[in-house]
Amino acid sequence: MTRYGRMVVRNALREIGEAQQGEAELNTLASDTARHLDRAIGGGVTRVFNMTGVLLHSNLGRAVLDGDASVRIVREASGHLALELNVHTGKRGNRESAAAAAICAITGSEAAAIVNNNAAAVMLMLASLKRGARNQVIVSRGELVEIGGSFRLPDIMRVANVKLIEVGTTNVTRASDYFEAINARTCAILKVHTSNYAVRGYTRVESLQALRPIAEAEHIPLCMDLGSGCLVDMTKFGLPKEPRVSEAIKQGAQLVTFSGDKLLGSVQAGFLLGDRSLIERANHHPMKRSLRLDKIRLALLTETLKAYQSPQTLTKRVPLFRALARSHKELQRSADKVCETLAPMLASGYSCRTIEAACEMGSGSMPGVTLASLAVEIRAPSQAALKRFDQRLRTLPVPVLGRIHAGALLLDLRAIDDVGALLTNLGGLGSA
Ligand SMILES: *Cc1c(COP(=O)(O)O)cnc(C)c1O
Repeated sequence: MTRYGRMVVRNALREIGEAQQGEAELNTLASDTARHLDRAIGGGVTRVFNMTGVLLHSNLGRAVLDGDASVRIVREASGHLALELNVHTGKRGNRESAAAAAICAITGSEAAAIVNNNAAAVMLMLASLKRGARNQVIVSRGELVEIGGSFRLPDIMRVANVKLIEVGTTNVTRASDYFEAINARTCAILKVHTSNYAVRGYTRVESLQALRPIAEAEHIPLCMDLGSGCLVDMTKFGLPKEPRVSEAIKQGAQLVTFSGDKLLGSVQAGFLLGDRSLIERANHHPMKRSLRLDKIRLALLTETLKAYQSPQTLTKRVPLFRALARSHKELQRSADKVCETLAPMLASGYSCRTIEAACEMGSGSMPGVTLASLAVEIRAPSQAALKRFDQRLRTLPVPVLGRIHAGALLLDLRAIDDVGALLTNLGGLGSA
């Protein structure tokens, strides 16, 4: 079987040869070359079992998609499709129409623009609100967020070519602060959901409702970067209240932005929702073309949004909500099975048992909030032995990622959809 073509093998041999000191053995040269090529181009997707206790792990791809539905959708969307064609009229259509209609139906928004991620949505929103010299955007000092991995609000504003006008203080910003900053060059008031931190103590932030009369009287768009994109009532899952997109719109935000792969539970995407005329401006902005989604992601996103038609379909078809809805009983059953599988494979001095644990949402969503879960706790004779065991789990056919906490390795069960596959995979430890 030919695994790699002549050209890449020749290049690999040359690179290895250049790094080589002294004579090379022929068989080590062959295995070195194979390893080099596997590393360089053989990689592709590395599936993992996320047992870290962080449900939306940014380093592990944030929200998980439903496997079966995704395979079907990708197959359907891979061929030719009526992406920008209305098949009934034969006229040109809009690639976003299905996803936009779905998100508007869920949130009560008039219109939607869909882009690469929320950072892009914020950038497009700001760029499209600017009107020549009217380029000032008012933001509270308490809401100038940085979201991990290079999203910093002041930087986004700079690339969107608008001028940041900071008002208030870190802990207190009043409606009058916004009001006093408004002038003939103001093009927007922007509120930002401080999704990944909380300021406690003597604090005051103005609600959208409080700012709405000011924005209306001055004819200035009131905008909100919601970040996490919560569409449903999270208290149903035993979590605290999280501002919902529909609420922000009802409370008077004319434009709202949020991510597709956080609490919404779908692919990486960014939504810009709100007043039809403002959305049209965003959709006609030259930046839009370079930020738009491809057909596959749009199809997957639409599929997730369809699941929002009822609480039952949501917890059945969207893995994030499946995980949130997973009962203590189911977690217990899974944890017991993992323990049963691991126990016979553990050397003496090692132990495993099921313990109560706490999950977090991750990806900067719901900071400080934990969700009850169960984990398999593994103890080893020494820290070094525990690290080695953790390493062995990471080198299984499908790497198993847990977390080391208080001298033990915890494997959290809440994010595990397919316990059978996990058990089979853990079986690989025996032969290791
Ligand atoms: C997560 C987040 C962003 C960035 O969203 P991406 O989809 O990761 O680009 C921006 N603003 C807020 C408030 C966020 O929570």
